[in-house]
Amino acid sequence: MSVRCPNCNSDWYKSVEPCSLTLDVKVDTVNFTEIVLTPTCTQPVTLECGKCHRRYAANLRTWNNASGSTTFGLEKPRLLPTEEESAAASKAFSEAYNQMSAKIAAHLKKHFKSTKHLVSYSAYESVNEVPQDNLDQVAIKGPCILAAEPNPTWGGESSKSFASPLLENPTWLELAGYANEMIRLTKDHHHVFFEGVDLDKKETNKRSDGVKVYQFVMGS
Ligand SMILES: [Zn+2]
Repeated sequence: MSVRCPNCNSDWYKSVEPCSLTLDVKVDTVNFTEIVLTPTCTQPVTLECGKCHRRYAANLRTWNNASGSTTFGLEKPRLLPTEEESAAASKAFSEAYNQMSAKIAAHLKKHFKSTKHLVSYSAYESVNEVPQDNLDQVAIKGPCILAAEPNPTWGGESSKSFASPLLENPTWLELAGYANEMIRLTKDHHHVFFEGVDLDKKETNKRSDGVKVYQFVMGS
C-alpha cells in the first residue's frame, strides 16, 4: 500500500518532520511508498499533502528488500488537526480543566485552613482530549482512609505524614482536597499531579474494622 492523504487520497506529499524526505520519490505502489530516510528519524513522521496541503502523520517502518538491504517506508497515515482545530481543542481543554480547578479551589476555601492550591487534578477521563468533570462522582465506595508517608527525598527533612479522617464514599472532589493537604504536609512539590488512588493492601489487612486504606497516585 502506498501512503495516501487521508483527506484527499493523493499520494503526493512532502515531509515536514522530523527529517527532510524527498518529495518526488514514489517507487513501490504495490506494497509501500518507498522513500529514502535517514535511520535516525523517529516515528512517526509528519507529511504534508502536496494537493490539499493537510498534514498527516505516518509510521515509519523498515524492512529488508530482496537484495538484502534495509528499506524504509511509511504506513498507517492519519490526518492531523488543522491549526484551527488544534486551537479549538486546546481552548476546550483549558476551559474544562480550569472549571475543575475552580471547583477544587472553592472546595479548599470551604473545607481547609490552608487554601493554597498545590494539587493539579488529573484523575479524569478525556473524550476527544477534553477532560470530563468527574469531581462529583464517588471515587471510593465504602469506608476508607487516604494516607501518605513522609517523603524526605522530595519533601526534605520537615516532610510529614498525612492521614485523612475516616471517609465514606468520598467523591473525587473530596479526594482532590485531601491530595492538596497531603502535598502541603509531605512538602513533595514535585509530584503534584493527582492521578488516582491505590489500595494499600498491607495497611488494609492490618485493620479489622473493614476500613480500606488507600494511597494517592501522584505524577510529576
Ligand atoms: Zn490531501
